[in-house]
Amino acid sequence: MDNAATTSLKPEVLEAMMPYLTGKYGNASTLYLEGREAREAVEQARERTARALGAQPEEIYFTSGGTEADNWAIKGVAFARREKGNHIITSQIEHHAVLQPCEYLEKHGFHVTYLPVDSDGLVDPGDVSRAIEQNTVLVSIMFANNEIGTIEPVAEIARICREKGVLFHTDAVQAVGHVPVDVEKLGVDLLSLSAHKFHGPKGIGALYVRKGVRLDPFIHGGGQERNRRAGTENVAGIVGLGAAIELATSSLEERAARIAALRDKLIDGVLERVPDVKLNGHRIMRLPGNAHFCFRFIEGESLLLNLDVKGVSASSGSACTSGSLEPSHVLLALGLPHEMAQGSLRLTLDEENTGEEVDYVLDILPDIVKKLRPAGSG
Ligand SMILES: *Cc1c(COP(=O)(O)O)cnc(C)c1O
Repeated sequence: MDNAATTSLKPEVLEAMMPYLTGKYGNASTLYLEGREAREAVEQARERTARALGAQPEEIYFTSGGTEADNWAIKGVAFARREKGNHIITSQIEHHAVLQPCEYLEKHGFHVTYLPVDSDGLVDPGDVSRAIEQNTVLVSIMFANNEIGTIEPVAEIARICREKGVLFHTDAVQAVGHVPVDVEKLGVDLLSLSAHKFHGPKGIGALYVRKGVRLDPFIHGGGQERNRRAGTENVAGIVGLGAAIELATSSLEERAARIAALRDKLIDGVLERVPDVKLNGHRIMRLPGNAHFCFRFIEGESLLLNLDVKGVSASSGSACTSGSLEPSHVLLALGLPHEMAQGSLRLTLDEENTGEEVDYVLDILPDIVKKLRPAGSG
């Protein structure tokens, strides 16, 4: 139950990739037959990716994943628009792949506003509007939060940015393949995605860049991706991304409804059976698979270890911060006190999870929580 950290590689996706890991190993930049085959496969995957997002193929750039796409969007726009200004707006609950590039830019003369969120994790579009100044060059607000699952009002924020002539990027790594994402309907200028979050391979992602947006290259060294992202193409990975995004975005709504029903059963069950627990994230504006709780008087890590012993893979927040005992920046931004934020549990469901698995967790969790709580607490 940790599908927000990564998902399984679908057999159909592996099958689509296999020829490019074996016989068809050509470099997509060469002119002979094998190279042309690789080029064709890359361009077909680009078309599939564009179609899935309502974009044009020439607006899709392949990257090594979500982290690179986020880094590129933020630093690429910042350095390309440096003459216009040095102000960037983001939120306090972004993934570290957005926050740390912003912190890096602060060391290089940029000024960053980190907008607060409400107790459900929602960014107020009015705050975005008020924060935009003459020298603002970029707003980056995530589509959906990877810890608490809250879906942000990105269409409204995009509209405000467009009215004020400021570029808008969204980290949609948790959203693509899970909720409908259409770049035209949303009106975003840049959007990051990552294949391994929707049953594609790891180490491949993409950045959507609206036609006409100026952006400095992030990786220098060759003419690939129309001179904007150097390096020999990860042909098999790109093919896998194309296959996975097509699968993930077809019959999405029906699948999402099924997963959301499981999620609601899990949420309602935990709130009913465990005392001193709080659901985090917005109840409605929420990713279909996300359930995130805080248990008072409990240390999240020991909860995870006990669940692991019982065969349940879960996480306390983001995979990238587990292992550290620092409470998550996302939970602190919600205004949760430290002792509450320490006892967090994220369960993220997927089409592969079953009702029996949810029942199993609901069976074992109350006892684990009871056992871990100091005697007399609660
Ligand atoms: C997973 C994730 C990333 C990082 O993507 P990788 O492909 O693993 O580098 C960035 N942002 C969000 C919201 C994520 O969930």
